Amino acid sequence: MASLISVEEAQSLLLDHISPTSLESCNLPQALGRTLREDFVSHQSSPLFDKSLMDGYAVRTQDLTSDVVTLDVLEMVSAGEVGRHEIAEGETVQIMTGAPLPNGADAVIPVEKSQPVAEKQRVELQTSGISPETNLIRAGAILREGQTLISAGTVIRPAEIALLAEYGRADISVSRRPFVSILATGDELVPAGESLGPGQIRNSNAPMLESQVASAGAIPNNLGIGRDRLDDLREKIAAALTGDFLLLSGGVSAGEKDLVPQVLKECGVREIFHKVRVKPGKPLWFGVQEKPDGKKTYVFGLPGNPVSSMLCFEVFVRTAIRQFLGQSHPLPVLRKLRLGKAHVAAGGRPTYYPSQFVSHPDGLSVEPVDWKGSSDLFAPTQADCWILFPAGDREWPVGEMVDVLIPAL
Ligand code: AMP
Ligand code: MG
Repeated sequence: MASLISVEEAQSLLLDHISPTSLESCNLPQALGRTLREDFVSHQSSPLFDKSLMDGYAVRTQDLTSDVVTLDVLEMVSAGEVGRHEIAEGETVQIMTGAPLPNGADAVIPVEKSQPVAEKQRVELQTSGISPETNLIRAGAILREGQTLISAGTVIRPAEIALLAEYGRADISVSRRPFVSILATGDELVPAGESLGPGQIRNSNAPMLESQVASAGAIPNNLGIGRDRLDDLREKIAAALTGDFLLLSGGVSAGEKDLVPQVLKECGVREIFHKVRVKPGKPLWFGVQEKPDGKKTYVFGLPGNPVSSMLCFEVFVRTAIRQFLGQSHPLPVLRKLRLGKAHVAAGGRPTYYPSQFVSHPDGLSVEPVDWKGSSDLFAPTQADCWILFPAGDREWPVGEMVDVLIPAL
């Protein structure tokens, strides 16, 4: 155990060895999930003009001297129009939501509290609940000119797209998406979808990793299956070292046929770490190959066991891809939640346990799901997250606060 490095040490080695990639331009509607690489600074305030938040009547609150007042209607202003009149004593302007507020007005009375009289030349207005600034927003009240609105390193969501669009941006500078090759290894594997011979299993890791890679904002390339022979692995691994990342699954633990670390070294991939104090996922291998032109391929040897591979992606590979993309928060975030079901944790390694959220009247709790170990792919389908139980034998009672890793979709 002493030779294993901790999860935190492994993650900081990833951050040390991976530098952010180059930039490219991206059209705004296509920018969902991309990583912004410029600080986006407002070049004007928002809103640009004082505006009404309601359909109703713009008034001067000093004219509201009784519960109901009758005012002269000067004109009607819709959103997108600019009124011709300033309002003076005894006057109002009918105004629509989003229309510029006329000069002189300091509140808007909603249309529901109005009653037109004399062919709409005049209007009766109920004044209760209306004070200066009611139902309007002033220029610059939301954002000021020169404010940093979205920092470099932010992942673009619909909210960021909307804000960029409000400011008229048509394209933004984002990180180039990494190419991630995936090569499963194992004599027992047949491609998912084909029938099985005796002793064989399907290659479920490759489709799983392809989907995880895509969800991390990278471009997966499934290279099929390498067999547990030096010649086949040498040929396939050498050919696979062309993208930004290579994910291998299987062949990295201590068995006779675990040839991957040896072949990676022969292919000039420098080992950064091998084996991490974590469960599942102990055999994890990470290294870097640097080409003569300085271009690098980052290589993960993931454990073959499907749930180990899945978890190693969430805790390590996703961090590496985020770092490559220049994201400001590359590390997985742990949240504290209340344990909803007692659990007995055992073993010398911190354990990520497939778990589900359970909603109660007094809040949300998290409960480990029934899990048969690292080849049990049903458990993660029942889970929303992973509880991280620290190393050591211990009973965890209901109500205790636990650390929870919530994976990205
Ligand atoms: P290994 O890490 O190669 O020793 O494999 C550990 C376990 O994971 C073995 O039971 C393998 O059969 C299984 N396994 C390896 N690769 C895959 C894969 N691509 N898909 C599903 N299971 C796998
Ligand atoms: Mg194997």
